[in-house]
Amino acid sequence: MPEEWQVELSKSVNSPDELARFIPLSPAELRRMRRVVGVYPMRISPHYLTLIREKNGPLWKQMVPDIKELRDKNSPEDPLHEDTMSPVPNLTHRYPDRVLFLVSSECAAYCRFCTRKRKVGKPYIIRPRWIREGLRYIESTSSVRDVILSGGDPLLLSDAKLEFLLKSLRRIRHVEIVRIGTRVPCTFPQRITQKLCRVLKRYHPLFVNVHFNHPDELTSEARTACEMLSDAGIPLGNQTVLLKGVNDDAETLRSLFCGLLRMRVRPYYLYQCDLTRGTRHFRTRVEKGIEIINKLRGHISGLAIPHFVIDAPGGGGKIPLLPEY
Ligand SMILES: *Cc1c(COP(=O)(O)O)cnc(C)c1O
Ligand code: SF4
Repeated sequence: MPEEWQVELSKSVNSPDELARFIPLSPAELRRMRRVVGVYPMRISPHYLTLIREKNGPLWKQMVPDIKELRDKNSPEDPLHEDTMSPVPNLTHRYPDRVLFLVSSECAAYCRFCTRKRKVGKPYIIRPRWIREGLRYIESTSSVRDVILSGGDPLLLSDAKLEFLLKSLRRIRHVEIVRIGTRVPCTFPQRITQKLCRVLKRYHPLFVNVHFNHPDELTSEARTACEMLSDAGIPLGNQTVLLKGVNDDAETLRSLFCGLLRMRVRPYYLYQCDLTRGTRHFRTRVEKGIEIINKLRGHISGLAIPHFVIDAPGGGGKIPLLPEY
């Protein structure tokens, strides 16, 4: 029997033609979107669809396919060299003490600016054999004390699969903390069930990083989802991607970061948009982020201000960018 959230997820919009049933689209718009979806899959969860109010608005831009994605042929597919720094497929070991472990290729909504555009929505990317190999790698590498489960979205795994992963990691003595990176509290809050929280709280110390990009995403449903996770004892951080035409101004980000704190979510990183192929139209100049952080500093609580970082192309890791004081 599928769970309620799985039934709800099956009502997602997966094609331009389905989208046209909710929002009028011209034949030319439809044609262009169909071409994009042939390369990069589309999915918009029912919850996120209800939040999209205007065509070309900040939420629309994040999730609705845009022909510009196909006009960015010179950018690299894997600018962070995640795949070359992988001792086993889908596990990136870049920093000595922590690994990034991709355990799901599915998300509740496919963000058009995704760094892992080359992988998300492609089920063959994650094979059970590689999950086992990843676990074995972590077990045999005693320098790893921090495991970051990512994807795709790890919380789109069933509770049973997730529990298997967490239990396997907890059996490894040198793994001190586990983190989960997920966008479901924003895009698909129905996934945060009491049953899920009961599973998660058995595997502390567990940290969750959520992903909100715009104050319009801070709905009462998202708040409830975050509160349930917090009440399960999980510290919540937030990652935001700086996106042109979506959130690249100080007022929008001030409102987002203060709103997150009110939901007990601590802003952790603000990312410069990576060089990933198909995302060029989202990229701001690096100075833009510095200028915004500069405007926020001193005006809002220091707790509300994330680190502005750029993930160095070529796999150099995250570099913090600071205004000159
Ligand atoms: C971001 C990242 C991490 C985690 O970095 P923190 O700064 O500790 O949050 C680990 N591994 C990889 C490959 C990453 O990209
Ligand atoms: S939720 Fe994360 S992994 Fe999934 S498409 Fe969005 S940015 Fe990419």
